Amino acid sequence: MTACFEIGTARSRPGDIVYGVFEAVPLPTGGSDFFPVIIAQGQGADRPVLWLTGNIHGGEYDGLATIHHLLAPDLVETLSGTIIAIPTLSPAGLRTGQRSPYYLYGKDPNRLFPGLPAVNGSHEMQHPSAVEMAYARLFERIDATADYLIDLHNYGVKSIPFAFRDPIFYREPRDKPVARRLQQRVGDMLAALGLTVVNEYVSSEYLRKHLHRSVSGATLNTARIPAVTVELGGQQVVNVEYVQAAAAGIRNVMRWAGMLPGPAEPVQGVPVIDLGYPVRRMLYPRVPQACIVHHLVQPGDRVAAGDAVARLVDVYGRPVGADDGMLRSEYDGFVLGLHPGMALYPNDPVMGFAVRDDSDLVLPAPD
Ligand SMILES: [Zn+2]
Repeated sequence: MTACFEIGTARSRPGDIVYGVFEAVPLPTGGSDFFPVIIAQGQGADRPVLWLTGNIHGGEYDGLATIHHLLAPDLVETLSGTIIAIPTLSPAGLRTGQRSPYYLYGKDPNRLFPGLPAVNGSHEMQHPSAVEMAYARLFERIDATADYLIDLHNYGVKSIPFAFRDPIFYREPRDKPVARRLQQRVGDMLAALGLTVVNEYVSSEYLRKHLHRSVSGATLNTARIPAVTVELGGQQVVNVEYVQAAAAGIRNVMRWAGMLPGPAEPVQGVPVIDLGYPVRRMLYPRVPQACIVHHLVQPGDRVAAGDAVARLVDVYGRPVGADDGMLRSEYDGFVLGLHPGMALYPNDPVMGFAVRDDSDLVLPAPD
């Protein structure tokens, strides 16, 4: 007997793709914003259940495009298990192309999923916003049904595609082996995905930035379900070749999970960088003074300590600072993506950078 999954008004049917709405944010002018729900179920087994979510940041379109690209009728013919997809987690952000829906007043929607109870603190728990309440209701459905989750984003204005690996926190010493096994499972899932892997900010910074309340952070740390964030190309545009690579990578995750038959397919047309050691993300380097920046590197470029990554000039084009305006990296690593803008203020970062990271990704939760 195949289980029927109900998410909002969508009810899964074996061998079919069904569509529905999950009521999200009631609007003062009537009606509501809803999350669109797509459920694709194979003919045979109903599990595993893979959740795919996209576009929580309204100007990040590749996830939406990937879900549209992936969930075609021919996928269902060979599917074993169920895909539950939410093409946009921010319909208002999608309409305006903005990172935050206008009724969140600039707050990051991807920090509003239910967090670890003890580290939530006084985070406006008394009167959560309508968006936060909608995410909490959706998260109940993720927690109840998901075996895996992939949340799709775009990075900077121009980037290589890559996947973030989050730290996992444990409370009691006896939970540490469970957390370790979960992190191992995430590692296997990332290997199947086949994109460049970058560790998230670790430990206290991860919690301070409320990343444990991102879609994948909450799924991993609150629901204890393997979950990753995938960053595709730059924002505000659809990066077609990256969408195809992401769809291939997700099909490979499905093969690894036993949801599709056959061997892994090649993930083509994108750089995949493995320096032989783990890396984490940082915003680096930063400019020491107000300036105009000319980037000397591009996403995917490898950088050795001492290499110039940008040249800093004044508005007339004359170099500023010592060393003919060269801004050099102190670290080996590679360029993840470029940030928008050419005119920077003191301490503004020049790019997203990946550096060596040997930290443990299984950590005790802070008190
Ligand atoms: Zn994003």
